[in-house]
Amino acid sequence: MPKRTIDGARKLKMFAVKMLDMYHQGFGEIASQVIDYLVDNGPLVPEEVISRSLNARSNDVRKVLQVLSEHGLISFRRVANRDRERQGWYIDVENLEHVIKVRLEKVLEKLKAKMEAESNVQFYYCQHDGSKYTIDEAIEYEFTCPRCGMVLEEYNGVKAVEFLKKNIENVEAFLKGE
Ligand SMILES: [Zn+2]
Repeated sequence: MPKRTIDGARKLKMFAVKMLDMYHQGFGEIASQVIDYLVDNGPLVPEEVISRSLNARSNDVRKVLQVLSEHGLISFRRVANRDRERQGWYIDVENLEHVIKVRLEKVLEKLKAKMEAESNVQFYYCQHDGSKYTIDEAIEYEFTCPRCGMVLEEYNGVKAVEFLKKNIENVEAFLKGE
């Protein structure tokens, strides 16, 4: 298999497992197995063959295939030649890189917007009850929580920004194929 295909499949797997675990809890593991199976045995693997080979519940496999295909990560195709018809699932590597790229670019945009917002954030808060105050309010209350009397803390946006920056770097590296 060409390197590009292996790379695409590896990225697809990381992405699909994360996505499935996020939206359909517990399906990440099956997604991982399904993708491995398609990479090793594709193209055009019928659903029954996947379920049987993985020894997984066919309803679960169907659900995973459905979700992966809704996100454009795998495709279904029917091929007919003279004597027989074959049909099944396959990984569309060409399309795949594009799909992942578009999605990650969206993630990147959101992360950057969030970081921008965080760097401009400055407020005071009460560690005890979580109430927040602007700087003017904090001065007015003499840096004491009006609800419970605790000393107000300055919100430290640096940590949040550092965390987001790390995430942004990861996504950017991923997009560059590092
Ligand atoms: Zn308080």
